[in-house]
Amino acid sequence: MKALVWHGTADIRCDTVPDPTIEDGRDAIIKVTSCAICGSDLHLYDHFMPGMKSGDIMGHETMGEVVEVGRENKSLKVGDRIVVPFTIICGQCEQCRRGNFSVCERTNRNKALAETAFGHTTAGLFGYTHLTGGYAGGQAEYLRVPFADATHIKVPGGIPDEKLLFLSDIFPTGWQAAVQCDIQPDDTVAIWGCGPVGQMAIRSAILLGARRVIAIDRVPERLTMARAGGAETINLDEESNVVARLNDMTDGKGPEKCIDSVGMEAHATSSLDAIYDRAKQAVMLESDRPHVLRQMIMACRPAGVLSIPGVYGGLIDKVPFGAAMNKGLTFRMGQTHVNRWSDDLLRRIEEGQIDPSFVITHTVGLEQGPEMYRTFRDKQDGCIKVMIRP
Ligand SMILES: [Zn+2]
Ligand SMILES: [Zn+2]
Repeated sequence: MKALVWHGTADIRCDTVPDPTIEDGRDAIIKVTSCAICGSDLHLYDHFMPGMKSGDIMGHETMGEVVEVGRENKSLKVGDRIVVPFTIICGQCEQCRRGNFSVCERTNRNKALAETAFGHTTAGLFGYTHLTGGYAGGQAEYLRVPFADATHIKVPGGIPDEKLLFLSDIFPTGWQAAVQCDIQPDDTVAIWGCGPVGQMAIRSAILLGARRVIAIDRVPERLTMARAGGAETINLDEESNVVARLNDMTDGKGPEKCIDSVGMEAHATSSLDAIYDRAKQAVMLESDRPHVLRQMIMACRPAGVLSIPGVYGGLIDKVPFGAAMNKGLTFRMGQTHVNRWSDDLLRRIEEGQIDPSFVITHTVGLEQGPEMYRTFRDKQDGCIKVMIRP
């Protein structure tokens, strides 16, 4: 089959690789009908996340049709149409039973690595480094879904792929980011980053009843899309002091809730702390660039909530923790517990409350995948979200 394969920094190729096969009784194999490139794939593309090996198949936003089912898998049959959540879940461990799916205790095949990095293991993820199990990803013609009797979202026929595909990651990720804010009717929610997750967070915050959403980015087409979703916007290219601007917009009080949908690769080339981060990262003294996190702590209204769906990988520096502590801020974060939200979100799509396909700007075949990684990373050609039809 054809698949998008990682070979090194900024080197992803469309290779021919062996078809996946059933390896365990709970598995299923799907024929991929649609997949997508996610912002966090760029952390692998740029090689900011450790644990990739040449030959790894990329991708963690995938859906398709079941073509083969393992013997013990009683919940799926050939012909079922499923969306594959990016977090692999066993459905049986203590964390899964509590709905904390992204920290499933059983699905990471390389637990010891994760325990060294994070103290405890987290769930296995598709196409996302050997720290999270080294599972093949779904930017391919076929995908083996491990623990498939639990790891799936069954979807009905009649709704096109583009409306359903993002149940795999960015829609529940934006949704969880907003839910974690405990939004109250008079809240102002500030959202850093208007990439695909930021766009989903904007719409989720509004669906959850936020009075105002203020979205922050520097890419014009992303800001336009944010406004179309109901946000007021701050353009970083026109505003050097985001914290002051947020204070101006909120009678000097600051937003009650702040969402970081940027994460470890924050770009803020002109500010002093961003230059500091780049320098430390270059000599491996710091793995992530927490510019947005610092800004959120300073901007947030005292007793507010910081919600962090943006991915961080390791160590961060110069975080104003004293400000966070003294202002009484609440931090909520994490990889998305996809299956916790999927029934509710599927219903909202079916009822027409939201159509997540608004975010797609490019639809291509698998062969154009490598070129699309570049286009997406460099934000060329108005690219916000790439959908791939293998
Ligand atoms: Zn993702
Ligand atoms: Zn589990």
